Amino acid sequence: MRKKLIAANWKMYKTPDQTRDFFREFLPLVAGHTRDEIVVCPPFLDLPAALEAAKGSDVGIGAQNVHWKEEGAFTGETSTLQLLALGITHVIVGHSERRQYFGETDDTVNLRLKMALEAGFTPICCIGEVLEEREAGATDDVLRRQCTRAFHAISAKKAAKLVIAYEPVWAIGTGKTATPAIAAEAHAVIRNEVTRIFGEDFAAKLRILYGGSVKPDNAAALMAEEEIDGALVGGASLDPKSFAAIVKY
Ligand code: PEP
Repeated sequence: MRKKLIAANWKMYKTPDQTRDFFREFLPLVAGHTRDEIVVCPPFLDLPAALEAAKGSDVGIGAQNVHWKEEGAFTGETSTLQLLALGITHVIVGHSERRQYFGETDDTVNLRLKMALEAGFTPICCIGEVLEEREAGATDDVLRRQCTRAFHAISAKKAAKLVIAYEPVWAIGTGKTATPAIAAEAHAVIRNEVTRIFGEDFAAKLRILYGGSVKPDNAAALMAEEEIDGALVGGASLDPKSFAAIVKY
């Protein structure tokens, strides 16, 4: 039985004060909720406020990216050492907005993922096809390629904490959600590929989240799919009531 993980990706929203306001309202709404693991990934500048606000609760705090070197001349980047020093436990790697707008490739995803695992984080590695790929019938190939490259030269032992988020790019921030059946089908392709790469035991334990316009009114149907082990939630995670409703689907 895989414990579901419901993770919030705040993207580039909220100030530290707004972060504190969010947790003030959110934590009482999910107090005692142990069925699922809950993680919030705010922008870097909000991480200290989030950690402070979530202290003593069961809500984990994650970052939205991490560099592949511990330190160096990499202006604008953030390292595992810095995140570990704060007390961060999770990190999103390879989000489609990083791939689309900031030149992230399968190879840089691989580098970031290796470093995140090496440093002991739980990485949430995002993969997913764009609309043209889906319409061309290339979804399965794209997912297999993204897995193969992202997990290149990583052992099953090292990858133990890995979480994958299947995020069809056409469903992110668009209000278009993959149907539970479409998502489950993609998750099965990913799990098969992970079986090939890391073996059956690993794949059976691996959590594969769905992301793409998850809202309070579609969360239950998605989470009912056996293949779906949680959600990565963007827009609907910014409001405490809406995110709590998704957590408690
Ligand atoms: C995301 O940012 O990972 C995401 C899935 O966004 P949204 O829920 O807004 O589609």
